[in-house]
Amino acid sequence: MEEEPYFYHPLENIEDVELFEEAVERTHFTRSLSSERPYTYWTLELYDQDNGIRGGGGLGVLAADTRRIAEQVGIPFALITPFYPSETHQIMKNGQVHDEHIDVNYHDYGFRFIDNIHIKCCDNLCKLDVIEKRFKNTRIICITEPNFGELYSGMSGSDHRLYQEVSLGFGGYIALKLLGLKPAIMQLNEVATFFAALARLDELVSNGMDFYEAVVYTRKHTLYTNHTLVQAAEAEFNIEQFRRFVYPNLKSPAVRKWLDDKFMNGQLKLSSVTIEIAELRSGVSKLHARVANYHDIAGNKVKFKAITNGIDLEKWTLPEILSFYHEASIIDTFGFPDVDFTSHLGAITADKIRVFKAAGRKILNDTLSTRPDQNGKILHFGDNDFIFDFKRRFVDYKRPELPFKNPTKLREILEPRGAHYVIAGRVHTGDEIMAGKLRILLETVKQDDYLCDHVHYIADYDEKLAYGLSCGSNVAVNVPIVGLEACGTSWMKDIINLNLLISTHDGGVADASAENYLNVHGMTEDEELEELYRRMEEAISVWNNDFDLEFLLQKQLAAYLPVISGSRMLKDYLDFLFPL
Ligand SMILES: *Cc1c(COP(=O)(O)O)cnc(C)c1O
Repeated sequence: MEEEPYFYHPLENIEDVELFEEAVERTHFTRSLSSERPYTYWTLELYDQDNGIRGGGGLGVLAADTRRIAEQVGIPFALITPFYPSETHQIMKNGQVHDEHIDVNYHDYGFRFIDNIHIKCCDNLCKLDVIEKRFKNTRIICITEPNFGELYSGMSGSDHRLYQEVSLGFGGYIALKLLGLKPAIMQLNEVATFFAALARLDELVSNGMDFYEAVVYTRKHTLYTNHTLVQAAEAEFNIEQFRRFVYPNLKSPAVRKWLDDKFMNGQLKLSSVTIEIAELRSGVSKLHARVANYHDIAGNKVKFKAITNGIDLEKWTLPEILSFYHEASIIDTFGFPDVDFTSHLGAITADKIRVFKAAGRKILNDTLSTRPDQNGKILHFGDNDFIFDFKRRFVDYKRPELPFKNPTKLREILEPRGAHYVIAGRVHTGDEIMAGKLRILLETVKQDDYLCDHVHYIADYDEKLAYGLSCGSNVAVNVPIVGLEACGTSWMKDIINLNLLISTHDGGVADASAENYLNVHGMTEDEELEELYRRMEEAISVWNNDFDLEFLLQKQLAAYLPVISGSRMLKDYLDFLFPL
């Protein structure tokens, strides 16, 4: 079954010895990878607006960044995901957010139609389009059809979700064969992609491999990446749904029997079978890998290897700042921290920081020029304006409303500096609780004649806003309830673009010690709030003092550059998948 290892040299003309050694190392990682045997990455969500695919949050951004990094470092890589023919945008009307649905056509984004394939559901054949877009050594392969629906449409245990997941798994597996690709490794970005590994197991068994051998083989080549903390919160499917959507696509009775046995009282959580089919399992930060509470079917606690998420530094760093990092030997050509990078951080002077901030502010102003705030006002910030931002999904555990619990205090902090507070975050469709919290927040802001002009909510949070704010604002506020953030990547965009970070010690932030940024902690939410206000005051004074500003921004980078480098993340995955 195993083929001869294929020696792949991503870098062929290397003069530099150090680069050459790196290339040798990389050759080791990729010896089982080739353009016909790529690293395959399965995800229901991709956030890649340049390629016409809009995601919901961090899971999708991570997927897009992982492929981009593979492209930069020369890893043969195929990302398999749905192309959703419709997407939701949010607009503000009378101080409230409303959803708007927009049709998207893959032809507009350079995808090419490959062929039609079929999967079976509910006694019917469902016709799916396979489309593809290539980028050097990597590609995005999509499964789609006109009625595929939107990302996360319907409830998570619904028939439509199962249809989408089965289409991606079985359809995507057929698509790989159509394109002449064999997965060297299958990385499952969350359990919704379980059906891809199931399709592989089914194919091996129906081609005559002994069932247990096929399980061992599939397990050895499957990595399950978990982003969730509690298994109990996961939706279940029932056996009757599997009889309609899953079993018709299985050729092997043994595989079907194996699955059948995994149901408990007619219900199944996909995590339980994903754990069975993937020997390699990872969590997305040190803290998350430690606390994720998952059990296998035998009741044993599942161990997750900590591989903290990183971001694509080329995509997320202001070009001026990135060139500077390269020139100052802080980041190398492959997106890794330079070996001695900490000793070069002194090059980050307050003068430079202020020049970069002015350049970032231009980008922010550009982005905001088409996106009015809740009052219909187009914002334009001057170089001397001071901006706090909160930019992340508007979900409960991230506590977007926290600073607004004491509006008088908030005003006392902002007003002396004339500071602004910009909120960008999408309310999840159908999340009435958070839509209500946003309404109350905006109501609170409206009642105060300072806040109403200086607190801005920008609807339809997306990659552009995330980027504009990370390079154009001064301070980022990240206050998830400790223990609930798996990793978070928004704060990474801030660190790399020289924003001060105010944060609780959670997710990937907790990979380093709490002394490295403006930490918010407390035994109660009231204590945390007091601390948050103190940190906001401190942040304003830090920006007034060149020495403090350099010191803190250098310290943030010293502690977190190795964490946030996406190249480091991909290398960690490769080390884990192909140990020396
Ligand atoms: C970076 C980014 C995210 C991820 O945010 P988290 O901090 O990981 O929750 C979500 N949405 C958009 C648009 C982003 O750019």
